Amino acid sequence: MLLSVVLPCYQEERNIEAAWAQVLEATKSLPVDVEGVFVDDGSTDGTLLRLRELAARDPRVRYLSFSRNFGKESAMLAGLGHARGDAVVIMDSDLQHPASLIEAMLAKHAEGYDQVVARRTRTGDRRSRTLSARIYYSIVNRLIDVRLDDGVGDFRMLSRTATDALLAMPEYNRFSKGLFSWIGYPTAVVDYDNLARVEGRSSWSLRRLLDYGIDGILSFNNKPLRLAVYLGGFITMLSIGYVIWVIGAALVYGVTSPGYVTLISAVLGIGGIQLAFLGIVGEYIGRIYFETKRRPHYLVKESSGLPDRTELARQVSTPGTVAG
Ligand code: UDP
Ligand code: MG
Repeated sequence: MLLSVVLPCYQEERNIEAAWAQVLEATKSLPVDVEGVFVDDGSTDGTLLRLRELAARDPRVRYLSFSRNFGKESAMLAGLGHARGDAVVIMDSDLQHPASLIEAMLAKHAEGYDQVVARRTRTGDRRSRTLSARIYYSIVNRLIDVRLDDGVGDFRMLSRTATDALLAMPEYNRFSKGLFSWIGYPTAVVDYDNLARVEGRSSWSLRRLLDYGIDGILSFNNKPLRLAVYLGGFITMLSIGYVIWVIGAALVYGVTSPGYVTLISAVLGIGGIQLAFLGIVGEYIGRIYFETKRRPHYLVKESSGLPDRTELARQVSTPGTVAG
């Protein structure tokens, strides 16, 4: 059995060697062959140099390098598309995902689970981080149609079936947490403790986290649009009632002019709501716009001659992709 390990790397020159060493260490006593599929996501440091060296030294290592930074989602897609294994592990190359978990994952895989998810416990995390994560997940899970779990990220083992299912989803806006959950299949969970990043720095800023949250909500349902319909309907009913009341009052008591405060708050309030929902509608249209362009998810600048299985995704989405 061949096990592929997909490692997206962005500015990880100091971590690559160690990440691969850990994978080898973790798999040497397991009854599998391993291949490493490194995806350099347009790093500007020595990541590509390190990958060339590694691939020259170790025939089990293959890599591809993007023409620019396309983001981790694209890097993972490319890695999955180029992995040939019967099972595929996706893990970060910054040493935050313990390779030692592969053994437990493989055991679950052998039991017949198509997805074996690594769940990070939050011991040792800052309080504020734990709290904000909890709030985020409780909000998002209420809003979205697939289930997201706290501590569950991209670190997981996928069977060939699950991998092909992911590759067959051609969407341009890839919110992988949702995609993993959407494909379903029997899923098992293994827990691990959080590891602090040793070298380099995390590329997530607060702004990116916020964008990610909004992506999560908008990629997987149309509830915000539904909300607009309900709220619009509610306000319309309210204003009809108010108009009837105003006309009735004018008939009974004659026309009285005060009402400046009511007027200005109604105008501003409704104006604000309209703008917000225009924004939501705009977000969806923006997504449609990007999907209809059918651009490739990534462009490869250099690779160690990997066969491309992103084919599956490409047939549906992007005729004439240059990838591979
Ligand atoms: N990564 C990537 N492209 C990016 C940003 C990150 O391929 O644009 C990789 C990065 O090299 C690492 C993984 O994705 O292997 C997770 O990144 P990071 O450590 O920045 O995220 P965090 O661990 O904070 O979620
Ligand atoms: Mg990290």
